[in-house]
Parts: sequence; C-alpha cells; structure tokens
Amino acid sequence: ASMAADTTTTATCGFCATGCGLRLHLREGQAVGLTPETKYPVNLGMACPKGWEALRVLDSPERATTPLLRGADGTHRPIGWHEAFQTFVDGIRGVQERHGMDSVAFLSTGQIPSEEMAFLGALARFGMGIKHGDGNTRQCMATAATAYKESFGFDSPPYTYDDFEQSDCLVFVGSNPCIAHPIMWERVLRNQNQPEIIVIDPRRTETAMAATQHLQIRPKNDLALLYAITNYLIQNDLVDHDFVASNTTGFETLQQHVAAFDVESVAREAGIAPASIVRAAEAIGKGTAVSLWWTMGVNQSYQGTRTAQAIINIALITGNIGRPGTGANSITGQCNAMGSRLWSNTTNLMGHHRFEEEADRRKVADALSMDVECIPSEGSWKYDRIIEGVRRGEIKGLWVIATNPAHSWIDQSDVRKLFGKLEFMVVQDMYHTTETARHANLVLPSAGWGEKEGTFINSERRYGLIKKVRRAPGEALADFQIFRGIAHYWGVADQFAEWTDPEAVFRILQRLSRDQPCDITGIEGYRQLDACGGIQWPWSEADSQQGTLDPPQQRRLFEDGKFFHADGRARLVVDDIQSMPESPNETYPILLLTGRGTVSQWHTQTRTRQSPVLRMLYPNEAYVEINPVDADELEIEHGQTVRVQSRRGEITVTASITATVRRGQAFIPMHYDVTNRLTLAHFDPHSGQPSYKDCAVRIIPQ
Ligand code: SF4
Repeated sequence: ASMAADTTTTATCGFCATGCGLRLHLREGQAVGLTPETKYPVNLGMACPKGWEALRVLDSPERATTPLLRGADGTHRPIGWHEAFQTFVDGIRGVQERHGMDSVAFLSTGQIPSEEMAFLGALARFGMGIKHGDGNTRQCMATAATAYKESFGFDSPPYTYDDFEQSDCLVFVGSNPCIAHPIMWERVLRNQNQPEIIVIDPRRTETAMAATQHLQIRPKNDLALLYAITNYLIQNDLVDHDFVASNTTGFETLQQHVAAFDVESVAREAGIAPASIVRAAEAIGKGTAVSLWWTMGVNQSYQGTRTAQAIINIALITGNIGRPGTGANSITGQCNAMGSRLWSNTTNLMGHHRFEEEADRRKVADALSMDVECIPSEGSWKYDRIIEGVRRGEIKGLWVIATNPAHSWIDQSDVRKLFGKLEFMVVQDMYHTTETARHANLVLPSAGWGEKEGTFINSERRYGLIKKVRRAPGEALADFQIFRGIAHYWGVADQFAEWTDPEAVFRILQRLSRDQPCDITGIEGYRQLDACGGIQWPWSEADSQQGTLDPPQQRRLFEDGKFFHADGRARLVVDDIQSMPESPNETYPILLLTGRGTVSQWHTQTRTRQSPVLRMLYPNEAYVEINPVDADELEIEHGQTVRVQSRRGEITVTASITATVRRGQAFIPMHYDVTNRLTLAHFDPHSGQPSYKDCAVRIIPQ
C-alpha cells in the first residue's frame, strides 16, 4: 500500500519511434509504475514489452552516477562535476589548439529530446567551433531522409497511423513491424478492409508469415523488383495519369528506364515465380487505397536511397498519396530520429535549412539572436567520413552522446581500433558500461527518459512530450544541464542565455520552423502538447487560426497534391542497379543478413538488457539462423556451437536451424555485441548510410 500512486500523468515512450503514450503512476512526484495510455491517439491503450519495462531499466547498477575520468592505469575513477567540466574544456580545447579547430567531432543520437539535440548542435557548431558532427540516425534514417528530400523537396514522411487501418493494400518492403513496430502492426490487425498484405523480404519474418503475399527475393533484388512492378503498372495502364501529369516530373524517363525490367527476367534473378510479381503488381495497381511502408531492409543498403525512391515512384504513379490509407511511408526507428533529422544541426542547418545559403544562415541567426558569423557556411562531414577522419589522423578528439558506435558501427573491430588512436574521447551516457564508454577518457553521466523533459517526434511527425517523473541517480544530470554546464565552462553562456530550460528551447525551435514545411508556430506550448496527445507537424499559426482550437489527431501531408519543390511537383527518380560489393564465393559461400531479432530488445541492448523481464524474453547468447539444407550439408545440429567467419573477423554463436532464411543465407540479430565484427563497411553513396545486410561469411561447426 505504501507504493500506491497518488496521481498519474502521461508521457511518450522513449524507446522506438512509434511514440506510444504511457500513463505514469506517481507517488510524491516519483513514478512507481506505468500502464499504456488508453486515450493517446498513437497506441490506443497498447504497449509492447519495452514500453512496459521503461521504468525498470532506470534502476540499474550499470547507471553512470558520477563523472568518471580515466587514469594512467586505464581505469575510470569518480570525479566531481567541476573537475569534469574543466577536463572536458581542457581536453577538447587542447586538441583544437594542437591540431586545428576541425580536429574535434561529435557523434550524436536519435535518443535525446529535440530541445537537447538542438542545444548540442548549436553549442558545438556555433559556440565551440566544432565543424564536424553527425548522428546515429545516419545508421537508420539517412536514406529515407535523402530520398524524401530529392523526391518531395523536403524530408517529409506523409502518413498518419490511421493509414494502417484505412488501406485495402499494404506493402511492406524490408520491414518487419510484427516485432520491430508491434503497435503499428496492431493497427494493421484492426484494419476492417480485409487488406492485401504484401511483404517483400529475403527472410520469412513474423510479418511475412502473417502476409497474404510474401515475395521472398534474393537479397538486394528489391530495386529491380520494384522497377519490374513499376514497368508492369505502366504496361498494363494501372497508372493515375491525371495525378502524374499534374503533380510529378520525370515520368517519361521513368517509363524508359523501367522498360528493361521485365517480369520474367527479374523473377529469375530474384529467385521467385513471375506470377508472384504479377499478383503483387495487380494488387497495387487495382487497390483503391494502397500504402507502401519501408524500414531498415531498404535504408541500410548500398542502393537504399534509390530503392526508397522506387517505392515513392510507385505511390506517385498510382496516385496513392495524400488520401486516407495511402502513402510512400518510411517508418522511423529511434524515439527521436525525426528530431535528429530536423534539429541536430549537423549536415543540415537546424530546421532543415541549408548551411550553404546565406539567407538561411541569416534567418537562423536572427531566430537564435546570434551573430551570423557564428554559423558556418558548410555542413558537417557525414558519419563515415568522420570515422575515416579518425583513421587519417584528421580527427583527434571525439564527443559521443547517447550512442554506442563501438557496438553498432559497421565493421566494429576497425572502429574500436580507431578509437584507440584518439587523443581525447568523451562519452556522455546513462550507463558507464557501454562498449563505447570503455574507450572514453571522460564519462559524463546523464539522466534518461523519465528523468527529464522535452519532446520527441515520432514516425508520423507527432511531437510528443516526455516528462520528469523520476530523480536521476547520483549526480547524473539531464543532457540539457550538461550542455548548459559546458556552455558556461567554455565561456559562451551569454550566447545561450535564452536556452534556460527545454520549453524555452522549444519556443526557439518554433521560431526556427517558421515558414518551413515543418512549421510548428501554431503550437501553444508543452501544455497543449500534453492536452492534445501530441501534435503532428506542420501546425502553423495560420493552421491554428482556422477555427479549431486543437489540431486534429490524424493529419497527412500532400492532400492538395502539392509537394515541397519550388514547382510543387514530386520528382520520379531512377538509377542503375548496383552490384553487391561482397557476393558469396567458394570461400565465403553464405550471405549474412542482420536485423532486429525480437520485440523485447532494443538496438545494442544498452537499456533493454537492464530489465530482467526483457532479458528473459530473448536468448542472451548470440545465435545464427541457418537453413535446414545448408545445416545438413555442413553437418550442423540445432543448438550446436558454430564459428561464423567473414573477411573481417570470426565469432562463435549457437546454430538455430530454421527455414526463415533461404539456402545460402544466414541471419544474426544486430542486438548482440559480436554481430558487427563480421559486417563489411560499405555505404549508400547518396545518404552515407551503412549497408549492414549483405556480407559473405562461412560457417564452421565446432
Ligand atoms: Fe514504446 Fe515503441 Fe513499444 Fe510503443 S512500440 S511501447 S513506443 S517501444
């Protein structure tokens, strides 16, 4: 009874970009439990196991509770904040003085609120003169952002979750929402239209098993398949010619380009029946409300941007955009990946302005009341170039915030070696035990979700509020307070005098958004976000003055057929197919796929492994899925220990014999620390996103 709650409040979940509402049960201001929020327009009373365990992961002995400084013997010892801030400033400034201003970089995250993200980007680039910084969203959403920008004129996912329930045909490409976005999948299950569900995926995922059609293509045949479907739609006059003529450019080029992709030859290459392509194309062409969804199977590919645009092309030429149940819809991964895309101030000037444009620099400088000279005229290097900069000795100092690249970056052993070359490395994180924190000279302990406030932007562009419902342990501080401390010790506190608390920064973000497609000037403030169950961008002053006091709960983009390019038209973009850089051969005959393995774990498990419940729901030891025929040939039994080798490294894991993967392929979940010892560092040339899902391996029984 002593733990009984005396009140409740609602906050957005801090794991994935579904952005569910959680009802927090408070006693004397401290959360003692939670339940899914029944009135929140996103999740309608549902939550996945991670959401249910969101409070538990805060109570961990692995939490960083004081700043830690690495001594000469290599071990970390606790220090106070004054010494930590001074060490930070001396360390970063020291590198800049010895090697030049551009010799320090930061690696940011999609895990912190938009206000902290903006503070970090502004402080680093406008206050501290750090030229290069990028986010871990480069690992998940860069491809979608690049594709949208080129095709629509702005990084603008058009949909609202209601579309899952409104479609009569849903197409999932490289996407497994059953486990990766389970609440979105629940919305699909509520669809009353008896929808056709088409899954394009090399692996027989949980979603593929529940689909009405599964096109189990050979890996990286997705782009050719999408072109073949496009060709079929054009050949069979399943095109919305009025929409194409009025709202797009590039149709003739598209038509000529895809003419080479006939159903028979693409089916042969992809290893599927021609009839399955025809059936899928017919369902798409004849559906009245068709939505196409993609996630990491597309984004994490060396030709990801063009594949995403092939999906966008299909939505455009069939007129499946701007209406209920339609759209070319990228589902986001991290809780605030979209906040990072809009506000991180790395490769784009904050609010999706351009560093290269003087007018944009002036607008941002005015909105921030800063001297325009503070704003550099070029964007940062992308993540892979920053890592390359460490290799070349151009980057000597690194500040890593709420991300774990020593686990998650592609070809992990190489990255770990490179971190050893740095002169000064700071890791700012909730946990002092991450693989990356072990490399740090200085660890700054930060508060996590539930211990601070701010806003996240979910996959459907909804700003949702997170709240402080717990005290952070020990001396851990909200990242916001850490940035304020750094600004003070760096000597630029005056420049950030207005950045007093998250809601003050939210008002700055509103000013920065004015007249952009992501305009949020109509939002009254945190109180309204709380009262409305979050608000989707755009919600401009003009929107808010049109009669309704509160914004509608479900809004989609492009209802008027106008896109964000100057001519109002979307671009139909096509390209040549690229070959896989490391195809299997006699020595390495198996193609390794990686991805999410379970609903209960999150990325590198930094947080989710802190929950005994979540740990129980998933094998703690790494495993590899092997096709039964391959297992027979290799004389491998289910449960046997095997070695998996690539040209980069070797790991020892347990064999799981299953027909979820086709012959010649294997699958290892990304959550395990070992997986990226095998992966090959190659990237999409347009987005810079790593291609995690195609490297050649061999499997040897122990
Ligand atoms: Fe949280 Fe995502 Fe689970 Fe919803 S689906 S409860 S946002 S982790």
